[in-house]
Amino acid sequence: MTNHLPGLRFDNSFHRLPAGFHVRLAPTPVATPRLIRLNETLAGQLGLDLTALDETDLAGVFSGNQLPSGADPIATPYAGHQFGHFVPQLGDGRAILLGEVIDRRGQRQDVQLKGAGRTPFSRNGDGRAALGPVLREYLVSEAMQALGIPTTRALAAVTTGEPVYRESVLPGAILTRVAASHLRVGTFEYFAARGDTQAVAQLADYVIERHYPSVRDEADPYLALLAAVMDRQAVLVASWMLVGFIHGVMNTDNMAISGETIDYGPCAFLDAYDPDAVFSSIDHGGRYAFANQPLIAQWNLARLAETLLPLIDPDAERSVARATEVIDGFRERFQPHWLAGMRRKLGLYSVEPGDGALILKLLDAMRAGSADFTLTFRRLGEAAADARGHERVRALFADPAAYDEWAAAWQDRLTRDPVAPAVRAARMHQVNPVVIPRNHRVEQALDAAIDGDFRPFEALLRALTDPYRDDADKAPFVEPPSPAERVYQTFC
Ligand code: AMP
Ligand code: MG
Ligand code: MG
Repeated sequence: MTNHLPGLRFDNSFHRLPAGFHVRLAPTPVATPRLIRLNETLAGQLGLDLTALDETDLAGVFSGNQLPSGADPIATPYAGHQFGHFVPQLGDGRAILLGEVIDRRGQRQDVQLKGAGRTPFSRNGDGRAALGPVLREYLVSEAMQALGIPTTRALAAVTTGEPVYRESVLPGAILTRVAASHLRVGTFEYFAARGDTQAVAQLADYVIERHYPSVRDEADPYLALLAAVMDRQAVLVASWMLVGFIHGVMNTDNMAISGETIDYGPCAFLDAYDPDAVFSSIDHGGRYAFANQPLIAQWNLARLAETLLPLIDPDAERSVARATEVIDGFRERFQPHWLAGMRRKLGLYSVEPGDGALILKLLDAMRAGSADFTLTFRRLGEAAADARGHERVRALFADPAAYDEWAAAWQDRLTRDPVAPAVRAARMHQVNPVVIPRNHRVEQALDAAIDGDFRPFEALLRALTDPYRDDADKAPFVEPPSPAERVYQTFC
């Protein structure tokens, strides 16, 4: 059955690549789809005209029961290094790409159903998703968007009316995900591992056309592509580090070539600052701990570089040397983004050589004092406006003396960076959110939804969509968890 989605213009370019890049298949219909959330703002940006559509139409489309006209559903193969170990074939095991849509700004966007049924890449999986993880991805990806961080988006969530069997029986759900593309480092690895250099070249050319058109005219387009992908990852991971985000599963199959955050599984935000923090139940060695993320991004980019070697230079040794030089530059690309972001968080607009040390000293004190990451920066903004605000910052530190010492140095630094206090505070508030998706609030919202009450999910989503403005609606979501509420582990 097809269903016309007015305004949604499909133009499926990935489908034009050779047969090995995709498998055509339809989503598996579900019993009784029910629309639980539609992102109307995003729908509007995609050009979708909702006026003629009722909830039944929408539930039909976003469950995969009805195909919108112009859709051409496919699943795609990819490989990946999972926790450092190479797996030659993963692929869309439960995600089906409906097609690509050109949005209102002329940008090409993938529209994908996650949880839409088995595919040739499902291995032992059921091809389905449970309600909890669908809502977590919805909340966290939309929070990231509102924080200004590149991310895939959530267009809709439906329940399927079918159970899924995990550790317990859970309600099934499907997320409609919108992404600049779903191409991953692992997509390159898939073709490279098969020795199919021609396919790697076709993929690289496709990626250049779609995501990095300026690279096309470079003398060494594939080396330039590697550098460009690296730049976006440096920006991305720096932006994660500035809000306390832990991806949780930075496998190469979960790193998007576009530079968007993708595949929200056991992700989490820091409450108390701890660079060693790990929440994911599957990350036993702490490989993907908070502070490791830049290093892991670089490691993943090295895996991408390996796939491109045959394209970079016909001489193998020279190719390795040139790719290595690019990858070795990761830290140099990452650090300025992070430092500039940290300066803004601290209300510093001039540049002094001692700023890095000042920032690290604060982070050390936060770590030692288990200070809440989000509240420390937000309240520093209040202290910038009015020195009485320091009292509320120091209250976050187990050892307030360490904070006092740092705060004196910061105040001193601010005198050499003259900005009116109220202006500085307002600028700091624009980069230091009041609300982040705190793990305990996310879990509470998911638990309520599983019991059939979507109100906590809706309230949390509303707060997360406007994270920098402090108002009364935010109050329930601002504070860190009490010891009883604290979440120690997150699950996919
Ligand atoms: P993820 O942990 O979501 O990054 O997924 C890793 C791989 O497992 C990907 O190839 C997924 O498509 C696949 N996968 C995860 N869950 C399922 C499922 N329920 N059914 C089939 N494949 C799955
Ligand atoms: Mg994944
Ligand atoms: Mg996945």
